[in-house]
Amino acid sequence: IYGPARKNSKGVNLNINSQYQPLIDRMAEFMDREYHAKPLLGIDIADDDSQRQPVASPYDRRQPVGSVQWATREQAQQAVDIAWKAFPRWSETPVDERAAILERHADLMENHLPELMTLCSREGGKLLTDGVDEIREAVDFCRYYAARARELFAEPTLLPGPTGESNELMMSGKGVFAAISPWNFPVAIFTGQLVAAAVAGNSVLAKPAEQTSLVANRVIELLFEAGMPRDVVQLLPGDGPTVGSVLSSDPRITGVVFTGSTDTAQIINRALAARENAALPTLIAETGGMNAMIVDSTALPEQVVADVVHSAFQSAGQRCSALRVLYLQEDIADRVIEILRGAMEELRIGDPRDLGTDVGPVIDEEAREGLLAHIEKMKAEGRLLAEAKLDLAQTGNGTFVAPMAFAIDGIESMQAEQFGPLLHIARYHADQLEDVIDAINAKGYGLTFGVHSRNESFTQHVASRIRVGNVYVNRDIIGAVVGVQPFGGQGFSGTGPKAGGPHYLLRFATEKTRTINT
Ligand code: NAP
Repeated sequence: IYGPARKNSKGVNLNINSQYQPLIDRMAEFMDREYHAKPLLGIDIADDDSQRQPVASPYDRRQPVGSVQWATREQAQQAVDIAWKAFPRWSETPVDERAAILERHADLMENHLPELMTLCSREGGKLLTDGVDEIREAVDFCRYYAARARELFAEPTLLPGPTGESNELMMSGKGVFAAISPWNFPVAIFTGQLVAAAVAGNSVLAKPAEQTSLVANRVIELLFEAGMPRDVVQLLPGDGPTVGSVLSSDPRITGVVFTGSTDTAQIINRALAARENAALPTLIAETGGMNAMIVDSTALPEQVVADVVHSAFQSAGQRCSALRVLYLQEDIADRVIEILRGAMEELRIGDPRDLGTDVGPVIDEEAREGLLAHIEKMKAEGRLLAEAKLDLAQTGNGTFVAPMAFAIDGIESMQAEQFGPLLHIARYHADQLEDVIDAINAKGYGLTFGVHSRNESFTQHVASRIRVGNVYVNRDIIGAVVGVQPFGGQGFSGTGPKAGGPHYLLRFATEKTRTINT
């Protein structure tokens, strides 16, 4: 797991081993440990080998990580019963106590950083550096939501009224929330969703993605250690349609917080709407993207390429915020593509535990096959512009896809989000700018967007016309920071409110106005 030393053209050592070395030393202990996960309900669940699924590493399918016992429909229903009963007591628990649990959880996750990042790598194929960012983000979510909850829930807001009358606005939890999360941020998004719901006073049923149940299980164990009651947060690892359909059809589910694909969000939305005798639910959905960047002729090509490589290929392109479509103004296009080709040739693809690796595996065989089908189609149309080298000796036992860039005419031709290290490049003339912005907006997604230019009126104009959740100017378009760049999109990309933003907790809460004739 020690990456080879790397120097840049000026001989400067690029090796970041020294910075990460203390962490790496502490990771060794978790490299071969076998993990087991099972439903964690408010009551004990018996072991059941018929529900057990093996877990192997995406970078080498021969390497076992452990096994997961999937929840059955009956267990999911039992969990809803337990959560329903737990809600009234939990919503009456003072917010200070609820927030303190999140803060202790943050401390515990920090202390367990080496273990959690090792699991992210072994189970989810994450680079070590991505693993550090992932755990840090989860820690930030806990501390940020704990602080916001104290501000919002501790005291009622006093409102003006006529003499002889007092008016107060109070906030409390809504009921039972299902928190359904994806594999690509198996700690950060998984934790962020459930702690937000819980600190607002709801009981929570957490359904992690099936590919990353082991690390989710570990996070919940730490949450219990931090003091979270076992009937308030329950873990339901398992198959999405099986567990998910119980969660989205039970009339006692007050809300669903979901992060994943737009298609799954629509299935959940329909299931919630079809329930009979159920109160109108809350659906918070953070979904897919078709993220673009516009580069005009005044941009700095080297900076553009550095930001494009980071945005499109970091985490093997498996970020909802990742760059999918790059628009280059004709005058600068050839130069950017030439430098990009060189940069892509330098990318190292391989074992994510090696600090010299730039691009790790994609999550599983199904994801790889979907990407390969797209690659084949694009290559057959003669659209390949650049590709990174895949060394089969390094990657033959894992689910790797080489980063590639393809020429396209425009975003209109993109059929679906390609969730991997595939970039699409279109050229435009200066007088086509408005059409380009219209085409990006017309696609209907609206998650992240980037603009590169040294002309400030250009960046201001583009940034104000584009309809997305997060706009980045003259930088990469990934890696939103909790409390600094609240994250989330619009249209097909999500309902809002933004995760890590000041309004997020409000959607998990109900408001009550109390008027007293004094
Ligand atoms: P996914 O297939 O939609 O799965 C997300 C979650 O939904 C998983 O836990 C999945 O369980 C569950 N699920 C599947 N079918 C379900 C059903 N019928 N009812 C209820 N739950 C169901 O998405 P993914 O492949 O894990 O994640 C990648 C997608 O997430 C991409 O589109 C990406 O853009 C998006 N994403 C968005 C954001 C954002 O903030 N906007 C952040 C990260 C990712 P199983 O694992 O068992 O199928």
